[in-house]
Amino acid sequence: MKDYQILLFYKYVHISNPQEVRDWLFALCQKFGLKGRLIVASEGLNITLEGKTEDTESFIKEMEKDPSASSAGSLQEGSGQAPRFLNIHMKRSEGTGNAFPRLSVKVRPEIVSLHLGVCDVDPNVTTGTHLKPEELHEWIAQKKDFYIVDMRNAYEHAVGQFAGSICPPMENFRDLPKLMKMIDHLKDKTVLTVCTGGVRCEKASGYLITQGFKDVYQLDGGIVSYMEKYPNEDFEGKLYVFDGRVAMGFYTDDPKHKIIGKCASCEAPSENIVDCREFGCNGQFILCDSCENKQTEKRGHTHCVKNCKKVHKSPIGKLWSKIKSIF
Ligand SMILES: [Zn+2]
Ligand SMILES: [Zn+2]
Repeated sequence: MKDYQILLFYKYVHISNPQEVRDWLFALCQKFGLKGRLIVASEGLNITLEGKTEDTESFIKEMEKDPSASSAGSLQEGSGQAPRFLNIHMKRSEGTGNAFPRLSVKVRPEIVSLHLGVCDVDPNVTTGTHLKPEELHEWIAQKKDFYIVDMRNAYEHAVGQFAGSICPPMENFRDLPKLMKMIDHLKDKTVLTVCTGGVRCEKASGYLITQGFKDVYQLDGGIVSYMEKYPNEDFEGKLYVFDGRVAMGFYTDDPKHKIIGKCASCEAPSENIVDCREFGCNGQFILCDSCENKQTEKRGHTHCVKNCKKVHKSPIGKLWSKIKSIF
């Protein structure tokens, strides 16, 4: 057994007492010494956390008991309610022991934000058909007529994607409605949406259905589940993840592993993702080792080669530039 384990999971289920569930999950994570990001909303849970392998397993067992379900039920109907967090598809992967700097457990309006307001999609009502990784593998082998639409952001596509997939250049998941023009012509085709662990596709595939798409599927368990079963096959490169690992792969030493990322500076193949350290940017991009060394030697830190969002026009940005120019 590996020492540390990372869990990635979500569940769309109605939670009438999100604050109570939040406090209970926070206490559970503290009890088992887990770190990570947990989002609780009235539409469900979206969770990624890390801890010692046996502690993460104990966490799952405790979570499944869902003691506050009965109080949530009594608030509404005056009777008990069944546990809400059973039968969740857990994505387990090897941890590092420091994948997350802290524990953050928050109540939010949504577990993933499309910012659709009143037009928001409830995946319990409208969502694409779940396609198992084995079924997708078969579709690809049989050369079935279908289109893979990647619902992740552009910086995630950059380091890995399904061969031949359509990757609308989103900066944020909520850009999806604006990018519909790119896939509008697929309304009468078979479309499969993919994302990291599946949570975004629950809504994105439902959204496509509301927009008139007729044959919509979503990859069950997301790209991480496909990669685990078929490493270095149809999904090429590495999978961007929202924790300290930044990008993950299975058996990346295998000669079949294909590097699709390109250095933003010299275009050499690379999977080295770095942060822009310019004040006010927060950008992430691919930079090969030699360009990273060059940038660090020159300016003391890594920075975007183009489209840097650094603060340069605001008064704070100007002041900051002045301070920097003095030293
Ligand atoms: Zn380079
Ligand atoms: Zn930047």
